[in-house]
Amino acid sequence: WPDTLGLSSHRLTALWAREQAAFIDAHPRSRTLSAAAAPHWLFGVPLHWMNDWATPFSLYVAHAQGAHVTDVDGHTRVDFCLGDTGAMFGHSPAPVAEALARQAARGLTTMLPGEDTAWIGAELTRRFGLARWQMALSASDANRFVIRWARALTGRTQILVFNGCYHGTVDDVFVDLVHGQPRTRDSLLGQVHDITRTTRSIEFNDLAALEAALADGQVACLLAEPVMTNIGMVLPEPGFWQAAQALCRRHGTLWVLDETHTLSSGPGGYARAHGLTPDGLVLGKPVAGGVPCALYGFSDAVAPRAEAAKRAAPPGHSGIGTTLTANGLTLAALRANLEQVMTEAAYRHMIDLAHTLADGLRGVIARHGLPWCVTQVGARTECQFSPMPPRNGSQADAMLVPALEQLLHLYLLNRGLMITPFHNMMLVCPATTPDHVTKLVTAFETFITETR
Ligand code: PMP
Repeated sequence: WPDTLGLSSHRLTALWAREQAAFIDAHPRSRTLSAAAAPHWLFGVPLHWMNDWATPFSLYVAHAQGAHVTDVDGHTRVDFCLGDTGAMFGHSPAPVAEALARQAARGLTTMLPGEDTAWIGAELTRRFGLARWQMALSASDANRFVIRWARALTGRTQILVFNGCYHGTVDDVFVDLVHGQPRTRDSLLGQVHDITRTTRSIEFNDLAALEAALADGQVACLLAEPVMTNIGMVLPEPGFWQAAQALCRRHGTLWVLDETHTLSSGPGGYARAHGLTPDGLVLGKPVAGGVPCALYGFSDAVAPRAEAAKRAAPPGHSGIGTTLTANGLTLAALRANLEQVMTEAAYRHMIDLAHTLADGLRGVIARHGLPWCVTQVGARTECQFSPMPPRNGSQADAMLVPALEQLLHLYLLNRGLMITPFHNMMLVCPATTPDHVTKLVTAFETFITETR
């Protein structure tokens, strides 16, 4: 355990053993199901990450509703993970569940648009401001397609990302800065191409590096989250995005914001909430209430260039789109979510309560004199193990303490609470109540008391 944590190493070690034993005792059915699945799946689970939670075996879900998840051993937890944002509007919101049931009997997939299409397109432009839209099945795909469009319509090969970024399974963005030098991310499995030949990486909040990276006029797009949310959380400094936009404009580089997570900022995302006007915008995860769905939009100026690039290309496979994209179920869920769930009122509740949560955590940290900080973007709150919030990906990376995160997550799971694995993200949904927040803050304080 790092000395800088402000906690007692031997207490942390003892607590880990105690919490593992408590979890094993309380979850016989999850244990049996894990053992039964083990021979049939890689790593014993349908997606290998499911094995990376803090629990000694997978926690099996019986059902999830609103802010709660109930496991197969009958324990109900308040969920602040919310499927790592996929369920940002709560589990199975009623309007989405009803729309799905209606559409399920009317055709699941036809490769043709349905009646809701025009309404959805108009609503996306009203909310997010971009002129023309396309769909994808996942945010990963949406980002992949945006990069392809950007290269096609600018005729440029290079893209630019920020060190420590994550945009899904898009191989192009897995470039890290190691001692200032770009390198294909070590963990990227089975990638044999040298991605650094066509992807540049710089630190977030570094305008001089941005200017240098764009200067040769070879960069098709800058792809970024408006707030970095996948390496802890890193906020943009005041004026950063305005200056970055001006640099992109000057060098003919498209500025694309990936709002998959920062949709937590408000009904029109972070860009709308902060008056930013990107050339491209990506939405994913919760946008259709938890049904697989992603979207990307282009501005008035960029959309005709995308259409022209496609028309100028030879007929045949574009490499953009998948067969089940914009299927009937997804469109039905998307409309119901936009119209009835992702409302101004829902966001007011979520963001107010997230402030209460962030203030509560800050109070605990201050009372115990811990060198930690709390960062918030709308309904999303992150606790980081450093006295000052990070300025960029390298600083944020240096603050991660995976063993402590795992112990805290397991401790909370054993006390009826769930937060996001792999970092300390806590998300508030429309069904979260002040009592739920109090329960989380109290358990967080008990954890600190037990490990000081
Ligand atoms: N963009 C961002 C900012 C993300 O955080 C993620 C996933 N965490 C993705 C894209 C990819 O989403 P998905 O895994 O649903 O494709």
